[in-house]
Amino acid sequence: MKRYSRAICWFRRDLRLTDHAALYHALKNSETVYCVFLFDSDILGKLTDRQDRRVEFIWRCAAELNESLSKHRSALWVLHGSAEEQIVSLARKFDVQAVFCNHDYEPDAMRRDAAVEAALGEIAFHHYKDQVIFECSEILNGSGKPYSVFTPYKNAWLKKLDEYYLSAYPVERYLSAFAQCAPIPFPALESFGFSPGKLNVEAGESGADKLFEDFMLRIDEYRKARDFPALNGTSHLSVHLRFGTLSIRRLASHAQHSGSAGAASWLSELIWRDFYQMQLYHNPSLAEGRAFKLQFEAVDFPNDPEKYAAWCEGRTGYPLIDAAMRKLNRTGLMHNRLRMVSASFLVKDLHVDWRWGEKYFAEHLLDFDLAANNGGWQWAASTGCDAQPWFRIFNPVAQSERFDPEGCFIRSQVPELANCPDKWIHAPWLMPEIEKQRYGVIIGHTYPAPVVDHAEARIAALAMFKEAIRGSNQRRSM
Ligand SMILES: Cc1cc2nc3c(=O)[nH]c(=O)nc-3n(C[C@H](O)[C@H](O)[C@H](O)COP(=O)(O)OP(=O)(O)OC[C@H]3O[C@@H](n4cnc5c(N)ncnc54)[C@H](O)[C@@H]3O)c2cc1C
Repeated sequence: MKRYSRAICWFRRDLRLTDHAALYHALKNSETVYCVFLFDSDILGKLTDRQDRRVEFIWRCAAELNESLSKHRSALWVLHGSAEEQIVSLARKFDVQAVFCNHDYEPDAMRRDAAVEAALGEIAFHHYKDQVIFECSEILNGSGKPYSVFTPYKNAWLKKLDEYYLSAYPVERYLSAFAQCAPIPFPALESFGFSPGKLNVEAGESGADKLFEDFMLRIDEYRKARDFPALNGTSHLSVHLRFGTLSIRRLASHAQHSGSAGAASWLSELIWRDFYQMQLYHNPSLAEGRAFKLQFEAVDFPNDPEKYAAWCEGRTGYPLIDAAMRKLNRTGLMHNRLRMVSASFLVKDLHVDWRWGEKYFAEHLLDFDLAANNGGWQWAASTGCDAQPWFRIFNPVAQSERFDPEGCFIRSQVPELANCPDKWIHAPWLMPEIEKQRYGVIIGHTYPAPVVDHAEARIAALAMFKEAIRGSNQRRSM
């Protein structure tokens, strides 16, 4: 590559200084590198909560990056505005010859990058794979097409994997190329129109490292513990993966070399992450609400606003669903098993369009990621690639009995049921009257009555899906 005297490294969903593809290439190939982060007004402008936890998370990560850079007598240049204007005008101000960044596969981000590249004109725009192990068309099936089923994709992914794809970018060899400067005051979150206060996880590389080290002690148990929301069975790293405070190569490498069944199962989840990023890249219309399986585009959801509100607010009368939704609303977090069950419940019990649920999660999840969220919702709604079959419908009571057998998770989020015995906590409306009185669980007063009857709702959902398939077959034969 050509050597540059001055370049910018533009940080986006890769908020770290270690094992960073774009930073490595920028430092290696330039005399002086300015590290830049943009609070993108096109993204922030769409957020309604002025205390959005994701913005606070990013702001804290950026502050830590600035602090780390100050140890190298450098700084993070923090911008606010639209990328096309801000990145280009800083590039001109510093008179750089190149801008380096990492790939982002979301359609809006790809459009933004194309616009920035065009506006940079003669300034080079270099971009790299960083946030996944295999991207875009690196894993294709025998016909040269993207896989739509996970297991063969995973097998091909594992077959292709070798040390080359897992090795870290040795950024530390080139740190002398950071632009030298006096400390720059770090902007307050308020200057971007937001305020801190709701974030309840540690941000930055330091926060990611702590979680990662803790999880390494538990990874061998992952397979057994991962499905139980009351246990500390998963890594809790999703928000860090979302914003790149630790590298996917480091995680995949540990999982691959660890050798236990737990680690293999965890690696599989990291492969799901690559799988959904690859799907979004090949099917950008997923970002516009398109069902992956077109036959289910026409499912006629009644979309009862009251049922939807009960789901959002955690008052469906199904304790596991209510506990999951209340935790989401309170913290921005939700366990994977609960995402699957509550998504299925919204679509197949309450008969609300999966896109409504997808949007709600997008607004509330701390780890919201377009590809994984869309993939998860379309999986639960049976409209996605390699999704839950349409006729398989989770029973919310059976799921509760199986994955929260003593109701520990439910009790932690639904205080009205704190005294409810284990036997009744999954379906408290079935409790005999005398016990309801004894434990202070008065259905319809202290705790809501079930918003639907699961058995009836299941039959209606099957009919809805059958009708969509019938309609789609008819259209095809016309
Ligand atoms: C309806 C629905 C919506 C979801 N929305 C998101 C989302 O917006 N952002 C998000 O990161 N994950 C999403 N997931 C996937 C999964 O629930 C979370 O990644 C997981 O709960 C995060 O917890 P963890 O970090 O402890 O995961 P772990 O179990 O420790 O897994 C490790 C990592 O693998 C990745 N991963 C795990 N499961 C999946 C999966 N099914 N699909 C893609 N990647 C996965 C995540 O990056 C996760 O951090 C969704 C799942 C469903 C069913």
